[in-house]
Amino acid sequence: MEQFDEERAPLPRNMIENSLFEEEPDVVDLAKETPSSSYPLDPDDVVYEPRTSRLLVRGLGENDGDEDEEDYESSARLLGMSFMNRSSSQRAAAASVYTRQNPSGGFCSVPSAKTLVAGVFILVLIASMVMVIYFLPGCTFTKDGCKKPNVTQEVVYPISTDGKPFPWADLRLPTTVVPVHYDILLQPNLTTMTFQGSVSITMTPQQDTDKLVLHSSDLKISRATLQGVEVKPTEYKPYQQIAIKDVQLKKGQQCVLKLNYTANLSNSYDGFYNSSYLDTTGTRRVLAATQFEPLAARKAFPCFDEPAFKATFSVKIKREAGYISLSNMPMTKTTPQKDGLLLDEFEKSVTMSTYLVAFIVANLSSVSRNVSGTEVSVYAVPDKKDQVNYALDSAAKLLEFYNEFFDIHYPLNKLDMVAIPDFLAGAMENWGLITFRETTLLVGNHSSPLDRQLVTSVIAHEIAHQWFGNLVTMKWWNDLWLNEGFASYMQYMSIEKLFPELDIDNEFLNVRFRALAKDSLNSSHPISAVVKTPEQVEEMFDSVSYEKGASILLMVNSTLNEGEFQKGVTEYLKKFKSRNTVNEDLWNSLSSVSKTFNVTEMMNTWTLQKGFPLVTVSRKGSEVKLTQEHFLLDAGNFTSKNLWHIPLTYVNDSCSNASGCKQVFVLKEKSAKLDIPSDVNWLKFNFKNEGFYIVDYGVEGWRALIEALQNDMNVLTHEDRAALVNNVFMLSRLGKVSFRQVLNMMNYMTNETETAPLTEALGQLMHILRMLEKRQDLDLVGRMKAYIISHFQDLMDSQSWGVENSVAKQTLRSTLLEISCNFYKGNCTEQAMALFKKWVDSNNTEHIPGDLMRVVFSVAAQADDGWNTLLEAYRHSIYDSEKRKMLEALASTHNVSRIAWILKAGLSGSDIQNQELPLVISTVCRSFAGYLYAWNFVKENWEKITQKFPIGSFAIQNIIVSTTSQFSTKLQLQELQNFFSSLKDKGSQMRSVEEAAETIKLNIQWMDKNLDTLRNWL
Ligand SMILES: [Zn+2]
Repeated sequence: MEQFDEERAPLPRNMIENSLFEEEPDVVDLAKETPSSSYPLDPDDVVYEPRTSRLLVRGLGENDGDEDEEDYESSARLLGMSFMNRSSSQRAAAASVYTRQNPSGGFCSVPSAKTLVAGVFILVLIASMVMVIYFLPGCTFTKDGCKKPNVTQEVVYPISTDGKPFPWADLRLPTTVVPVHYDILLQPNLTTMTFQGSVSITMTPQQDTDKLVLHSSDLKISRATLQGVEVKPTEYKPYQQIAIKDVQLKKGQQCVLKLNYTANLSNSYDGFYNSSYLDTTGTRRVLAATQFEPLAARKAFPCFDEPAFKATFSVKIKREAGYISLSNMPMTKTTPQKDGLLLDEFEKSVTMSTYLVAFIVANLSSVSRNVSGTEVSVYAVPDKKDQVNYALDSAAKLLEFYNEFFDIHYPLNKLDMVAIPDFLAGAMENWGLITFRETTLLVGNHSSPLDRQLVTSVIAHEIAHQWFGNLVTMKWWNDLWLNEGFASYMQYMSIEKLFPELDIDNEFLNVRFRALAKDSLNSSHPISAVVKTPEQVEEMFDSVSYEKGASILLMVNSTLNEGEFQKGVTEYLKKFKSRNTVNEDLWNSLSSVSKTFNVTEMMNTWTLQKGFPLVTVSRKGSEVKLTQEHFLLDAGNFTSKNLWHIPLTYVNDSCSNASGCKQVFVLKEKSAKLDIPSDVNWLKFNFKNEGFYIVDYGVEGWRALIEALQNDMNVLTHEDRAALVNNVFMLSRLGKVSFRQVLNMMNYMTNETETAPLTEALGQLMHILRMLEKRQDLDLVGRMKAYIISHFQDLMDSQSWGVENSVAKQTLRSTLLEISCNFYKGNCTEQAMALFKKWVDSNNTEHIPGDLMRVVFSVAAQADDGWNTLLEAYRHSIYDSEKRKMLEALASTHNVSRIAWILKAGLSGSDIQNQELPLVISTVCRSFAGYLYAWNFVKENWEKITQKFPIGSFAIQNIIVSTTSQFSTKLQLQELQNFFSSLKDKGSQMRSVEEAAETIKLNIQWMDKNLDTLRNWL
């Protein structure tokens, strides 16, 4: 799946602590998770654990146990200790105590009988007293005395909907029965928005069992048979499971479960859901599409809905003649039915996970092309059929690239890509039937090169998934990064090779900076983290899995010798084809091809612990001391002893801006020494910012680098310059360098012309400015603006308003002009209004360059007539990328009644599609009036919002972070905490809430520390 990144605002991060080290990772706390009236569990399933007085259920999810054991082991390795050794040494210690209690020798003289009797009596007395004291509980002589021990806790089964005990008590399914094949028949009714379904599941028991447990959610099952005999499923709704009890299934003997059911087409964005849009005549059109990742296949058909339960699927769909249907595989035949409907049948699928199954019933137009034996097609609603060609061209190139790169031909003979009018994620990689937002697939006349960069990126990401994710799939959601980190990395790598004009390198550099910022909080989590609940699964779709995942893959690739990465990846895909994997399988494959590195050992330090290192460099002549520590922006007093195997790279002033200059040093320990020639003037570490770490050069080191940049900035690559800017700001947040040092670094900026360092500096400065604005510190806001203008005015004034084809220049110009117009500087707003007027006068036919649309529309939207004109244009535009820029402009209004209207419209879905609500909220939050209003709006409408978007989902993470990340007072922190703690099971446990609280605490700290400094230095 590709998340839809609403803006380059801070994204949420997970708060889970390094739960790899939890004592009991596979505990189901039934005291919490089951209803109060419960039935006893099968004693075989239960282990009492008196130490914790919690009821532990083990052996229920066999696969669970394995995984957690792996987690234990890898964690132990990471810590350089062995849990196995620990228990065996404990056993040895116990044995030695026992040995010491045995008499070791005889007496040296013979006592008298009297003495012997008295001695025996005294000994017996002492022994009795010792025994009494020994066996008394430790609480006996304490002030509080002993509480009654918590002896028998009732063993429980959850209660199913029929009031009887449900035979399973774990969120994960048992592995006693595995599915082999599904026959699915679906008949959606796009008038009543309901569907009928039947599924026939062929299964193989892995051992004798008396029960069947699988997933089903919101499906009304009307009939069920097992081996042709009618059975009655029982349901446990909180876990979205159904079960069939008292059956006799024999190991290895295939059996067939058949279920007929009905359900509503979902109104949220998951499951088999209804999507609608207004066509150019103003008529509302409907369609039905699916979005199953991560946990929603169970909403369309009963199934074993975990990624490791791979099976084949044969899909049939009954539809009306006015629609077409699509599924993962090519259609084999269509048969007219007696009731006037048509029955489409699709080929049996390859072996795959349930979350990759997909089907669509809609009225769509398409174009197709044969690419190396694969029929590639792009579908859109009829009004937009002219906007599909760019996607087809890009997909053709990318498919050929991946066929060659992975050395495995794309396994299906068709690949459909479909633009869905109302769709929440950016795109979804369903095998053979990739679904997209319209913005991420369609390219019209109005699209800018920047829009094309987005479309190409998303296509590259989704096609990469056909191998990484679809062919080889993570075993469980804890290793989601194996899908998402890889698809993200492949998207940047393939675009750099195939579409150099799209300037994807700058975008990837930004992504790495963003990932560093997110991973610097204590509420971050390891890339591979323990995941249990549905909310935790949803929350894995975050920056750590995607952006940090992609960043560390770049680091591995640039550390290995040329060609080794590709070779290792190809071997991994071939070895695990059609199977499921864990983190370590990938590293082991890369280790096996590397001549120089133990990749597994190195990369475990990056995936199994959270955060990243800060490397401090201190130099005395020719000796350089390197020290590593956890870079942690901590609002509490957390201390971390995490260490990483860092493949450090560095260049120096004699050779600094070519790949051949790069030298490598692996830092594994807390500190190490490096020898350099004594005539070296300066060192720059982390060449092109390809490693996932931050470097502090110390006062002298920074001074030398800043001086070098001021003399001739071209001694460093533009990536290295951007990284220095990024690092100096990050270090000032950590308190390691003074704000004065930051401003010293900024002084070279007046000579800077490259996009990456300029946008990084502007982004950092604007972040500070926005926080000051929200505190209404008008004096400082004025000074900060003046500071920004003094450094960037010339550059702002030199930007053109005409057509610009370079993506890098478009990125820079739109950033600069948005700030300039926002500050009402120069003639920015006049230029914008002139373009807007031309566009209106020409009836929207006169072209506004795509990268400037947002700034032009945002200026226009501040006036009444401009806002109304834009709203009208928004309703009629068929170009989604243009529409979104109009929407952002509308949401940028400072008018409170319009802010109220647009938020409401985004929630109701009538004028503005629900999919845009996160974008509306994050845009509204940029203005002072908007950000106060948006927070109240989110609080008041939480119930409705979480009905549309799942708790923990990327959309919810985005909404929480955008509404709260600019808070910087204790009162606001208190308010956030009060609100979320009142939600209980409706979101109080979300990791993004913890992150939001931490961010506010850090903002408060930053303000306390730096306000005076800013007043002194600005
Ligand atoms: Zn993805």
